Amino acid sequence: MEKRIVATLKLLGELGFDEIYLPQEEKTESNQKEETQPKPPPSEEKVENKVILLKRLYEKNKNCCRCELCKSRTQIVFYDGNPDSPVMFVGEAPGEEEDKQGKPFVGRAGQYLNKVLKEIGLPREKIYITNVCKCRPPNNRKPFPKEMQTCLNVFLKKELEIVKPKVVCCLGATAAEAFLGKTVRITRMRGQFYPNPLYPKAKLFLTYHPAYILRNMREASTFKEDLKKLKAFLEKELG
Ligand code: URA
Repeated sequence: MEKRIVATLKLLGELGFDEIYLPQEEKTESNQKEETQPKPPPSEEKVENKVILLKRLYEKNKNCCRCELCKSRTQIVFYDGNPDSPVMFVGEAPGEEEDKQGKPFVGRAGQYLNKVLKEIGLPREKIYITNVCKCRPPNNRKPFPKEMQTCLNVFLKKELEIVKPKVVCCLGATAAEAFLGKTVRITRMRGQFYPNPLYPKAKLFLTYHPAYILRNMREASTFKEDLKKLKAFLEKELG
């Protein structure tokens, strides 16, 4: 890019402009030719937009220090997977490995979840996965309600508006509580679909947290059956 243009853009940036609207170009033979070039299919266009919006959300808040968790974290752990997926998985908060790598569900629990997802034919690459809190709580303690509320407002509510999932799958009671706004006994409520007070356009599905399954392997088949039920819903409702 020409040096003068770069300098002008830099100056505009410093003045607080982050978008520039250009006047419509008059139609010439060459730009008319460009217009007739095949456009990407609408689904691809949509994914690109979602990626851009998520990137903006991250850039704006990557140094967030609205709660105490910023003091002990290494970095914010945002999302992983496909922003155009009809299903959003939501966990509690990053653990040690996630805090190190900057990606959700990459530690032992995440690897176990990946294995079950693969077994049921819903590979990790096809889902969008994130957490209620984006920062690791010290010693992996449960995040405090205020920390969850703050992070919901900064990130999760906006992620829902950008990704527009058809179903949200809460992994464990903490995520379920964030969506339902009340205490949840996951053993009683798991395996069912509910209305979604936080994002009414999507259904809410609850299941165990994979870390709980690693500590209670006798529940492994129930966890797998829950995820199969979720997959069957996605196939039936969304094709
Ligand atoms: N547990 C969670 O709830 N989220 C992660 O990202 C990892 C473990």
